[in-house]
Amino acid sequence: MKPAAFEYHRPESVSEATDLLAEHDGAELMAGNQSLGILMANRLATPDHLVDLNAVDELSYIDVTDEAVEIGALARHRDIETSASLAEALPMFPDAASQIAGPSVRNMGTLGGSIGEADPAGNYPAVVTALDGELTLVSPDGQRTVPASEYFIAYMFTELEEEEVIAKVTVPREPFPTDRTGMAFLEQKPAAQTWPTISVGAAIRVDDPEREEPVVEDARVTLANVAGVPLRAEAAEAKVEGEPLSEGALEAAGEAASEASNPEGEMHADEQYKRELAAEYTRRSFETAYDRAVGSQ
Ligand SMILES: Cc1cc2nc3c(=O)[nH]c(=O)nc-3n(C[C@H](O)[C@H](O)[C@H](O)COP(=O)(O)OP(=O)(O)OC[C@H]3O[C@@H](n4cnc5c(N)ncnc54)[C@H](O)[C@@H]3O)c2cc1C
Repeated sequence: MKPAAFEYHRPESVSEATDLLAEHDGAELMAGNQSLGILMANRLATPDHLVDLNAVDELSYIDVTDEAVEIGALARHRDIETSASLAEALPMFPDAASQIAGPSVRNMGTLGGSIGEADPAGNYPAVVTALDGELTLVSPDGQRTVPASEYFIAYMFTELEEEEVIAKVTVPREPFPTDRTGMAFLEQKPAAQTWPTISVGAAIRVDDPEREEPVVEDARVTLANVAGVPLRAEAAEAKVEGEPLSEGALEAAGEAASEASNPEGEMHADEQYKRELAAEYTRRSFETAYDRAVGSQ
């Protein structure tokens, strides 16, 4: 099948793009076209107007300062995967990007497209939720900032209004000093280059990596594809905070993440299996993040 007929627009600025959205009812933004293209080819999406963001150069950047990381919505998965400054500052981003699909999807797919799509199995929605990121949304009326924790509302339903464009993601660096923070993004996939059955992003900051038994000061964990939105498992975080990482704490954290999960069964993974994966991958991701924080990995 081919897409239904549509009128094509190629703005060169964010304001031009938002004006087009305001002008044409039901217009759809296009970024990497890795998800939208499939929907349109199958006529599951039939927009009359397509607003192609690929010439909006102001959305294509990665900016790392001492205070924060800012990533423009048009940054490709490949840009994020290969960014040395991101690998240093917030390694969960490149770790997550490197595991998305295969090279062709990563060469074209974008941060903004992934967050715009808001698939609960998506990698970046889990990352920005785990890291307490903020999204900047721009409309013809101005811009607003929405915390990731408030952006994802229900299954593929978000705070984004029809006339808004996601412009960037911002993550403050203060909670993640590089010399005593470790991060991990682990996935279980049924086959290479597909969507994961489950992913877990975790970050751990310790008090002093030189101590014999470094204490976990701050823990973050978010699970993808075990609920309608990225699931920040705060009960699991609490189980590992305030003491050196132990087998008992990992066990308890896994159980807490599993209990917080509310997964939909899939063809190759029923609900019970996904709950078991939630426990095991929470445990593994905390363990990996801790090892990285204390410098043993
Ligand atoms: C085979 C395959 C496997 C995949 N596996 C994974 C995976 O493991 N993990 C994962 O996370 N993703 C996966 N994906 C999805 C991939 O990451 C997509 O690239 C991404 O989800 C959509 O990004 P895009 O830039 O292609 O967006 P598009 O397809 O162009 O757009 C997707 C949606 O986002 C909206 N949108 C795009 N940009 C913006 C913006 N700036 N502001 C507001 N709305 C916007 C569009 O209107 C559209 O509704 C997979 C895709 C395929 C085809």
